[in-house]
Amino acid sequence: MPEFCPKCGAMVPDGTERCPQCGARLRGRVMDERTGFTWDDFRTYALGTWFYVGLAIVIPVLLTLLCLLLYLRG
Ligand SMILES: [Zn+2]
Repeated sequence: MPEFCPKCGAMVPDGTERCPQCGARLRGRVMDERTGFTWDDFRTYALGTWFYVGLAIVIPVLLTLLCLLLYLRG
């Protein structure tokens, strides 16, 4: 079900966070009124950070396991 931007009236797809026409926020609680930073933004950035932290941990562990496997196989 499409939604309409309250600011410019443009039709936007359901679930859109920002109006593609004027950039107005359509959903999400605003953490900081001045910058328009929302909890959704915070969660997105946090997930991105954890993703890279996860990669930084997982890749060396996998490499170590691979080396160990090759070593054990002689
Ligand atoms: Zn708009």
